[in-house]
Order: sequence, then structure tokens, then C-alpha cells
Amino acid sequence: MTNDILDDFLIFNTYGLYCKYGNFYLDPVQPVERAVISHAHADHAISGNIAIYCTDATHAFMKLRYGKNAGKFFDIAPYNVAFDVGGVKISFIPAGHMLGSAQVLMEYNGVRYLYTGDYKVQPDATCEPIEWINADVLVTESTFADPVIIHPDPIGEIKKLNDIKMNILLGAYGLGKSQRLINLINEHAPQKKILVHHRIMPINAIYEKMGFPPGKYQIYSRKLMKNQEDFVYIVPPFTFDSYIRATDVKRLFASGWKNLQVNKQDTLFISDHVDWNDILQAVKQVDPKQVWTLHGNGMHLKKYFGDEIVVKILN
Ligand SMILES: [Zn+2]
Ligand SMILES: [Zn+2]
Repeated sequence: MTNDILDDFLIFNTYGLYCKYGNFYLDPVQPVERAVISHAHADHAISGNIAIYCTDATHAFMKLRYGKNAGKFFDIAPYNVAFDVGGVKISFIPAGHMLGSAQVLMEYNGVRYLYTGDYKVQPDATCEPIEWINADVLVTESTFADPVIIHPDPIGEIKKLNDIKMNILLGAYGLGKSQRLINLINEHAPQKKILVHHRIMPINAIYEKMGFPPGKYQIYSRKLMKNQEDFVYIVPPFTFDSYIRATDVKRLFASGWKNLQVNKQDTLFISDHVDWNDILQAVKQVDPKQVWTLHGNGMHLKKYFGDEIVVKILN
């Protein structure tokens, strides 16, 4: 006998995605009493929550970013070990998105609901690889849930650096993306020497402490880059923008977001999210009865699955 899927198991309100059955939020957008946090990116992990359930790495990154305001009580759970939140059984499953990122499996009344958070299926040596589990309801991000969006091979993108015979200023988000880039450059453009902005250094230190060293790099100094041409200087977006008039470097921004780009020549298309094919793969692996979509456009999935799988658009 299979129990019924609760149509209102997760609903959106002004604080974010809410589960009334366990009285908690998933990645709330405003501070709440009980927050289950999938990963440490700022749009998922805000400051000021009271009780926070997350992985070890997510906790470390939140402490680094928010200090005392990170939250009142942290309940840290390893992957694949169930714990109880208000009567809902929860487990974290690796999401492959960045270090510590988790899918959230929620079991209630015999039904398995799986919230993916942000996830990716491309290999990434700087985080735990994604794990697949079965669930009755797959709650997936659908930022790129459009058949026209197919991410290029990240290795091909990184190899473009080999053809650039001058120093490179590489803009990237400091948490997750920067470490993945350091790793990819070490592997696929090994003659390049990596410099990192000082704001990225403490993040790298957490990666190293957690057993995921990104690779070889050194802290930036102006002297190093003089009369050289094989440096790649990785900077956060804010610093990248302040170099807008720099003429002695090639400026590149690493992003999976097409709408951010100035033009194709200035972009490395490296995404930490799933594209259309990846989402189809997720549905195949999780084998759900229903797919609920978040953050994006669920219409294409609805059309694609037709009567085969119920697709519900949550936002
Ligand atoms: Zn993210
Ligand atoms: Zn996100």
C-alpha cells in the first residue's frame, strides 16, 4: 500500500518554502525559527535563523560569512544519517553543487519528498559527488529547465585559457566556483600560475581543512604579475567590476548565466547548476511520481512529461 502524497507538504509563503507538517523552512529567504539549509550560497543560507540544520561544511561557510549572526543553534548532520525535525524524518544527500551541498530527503507518513537544492551532475573534484536516491516527489530547481539550455563541457571552456598569452583577470563567485576553477586550471591549464584575491583565501582554507584542497595557488601580489604573462588572477565579482578599465590583462568572467554576460569572448561558461539533460537524468534516477519545480520555468517539464509524470510548478 502506498500512502498519498500531500499536495501541501511544501508551500511558499513570505519567509520561503515551508513544511507545516514539521514546522520548518527549506532555505528560508527571511529569518525563521527552524531552517533546513541545503548549502552555503548566500541566496540559500541567510543569517539570523534560530535553529539551523545543515552539513558541517555549510556551517563552516556560514560562520565565516556571518560570524555571530550566522544563527543561534546549529544542528550539524552528516550525509545519509536521518534526524527528526518536528516529526519529519530528514536526511542530507550529496548534491554535487559545492562543498557541503545537500539534497534534503524528507520522509513523512510513508511518502518520500526530495528537495534537491542546487545540484549538478558534472564531475567536480572540489565537492562530494551527487548521489541518487528514489523518492515519490522530486522537488527540483528549474533555473535552466529549458531544452535550449545545454551547458558546454567545462574542460573545453577551461582549455581556452591555454590560448591566451597574457595575464588573465578571472571573475568568479568566491565560494564554490573559485575553488572549482582553481582545480580545473591545475588539471587542464597546468602551465598557468594561479593567484587568488585575499577574500577567497579563508574559503580555500575551509576547503583544505575539510579534505578538499582545490589545488595549487598563491595569494595575489601586484609585483608577481609584472612582466609576466601566465598568471590567472581569480577575483570576486565586486573586484572584477572595479577593474573595468584595466588594459594589461584579459578580463574573463566564469558563469553559467547567459544573461550576465557582456559578450561571449569575455565569458567562461562554467555552470554549477543542472541543464535540461541533467534534469531529465535526475527524474530518471529519482523515479518520482510527481515533480515539483522551483526557481525557474517548469512549463517545459510539464509539456515534456505530459500524462506520464505530474509536474507541479511551486513558484
Ligand atoms: Zn548554490
Ligand atoms: Zn541557488
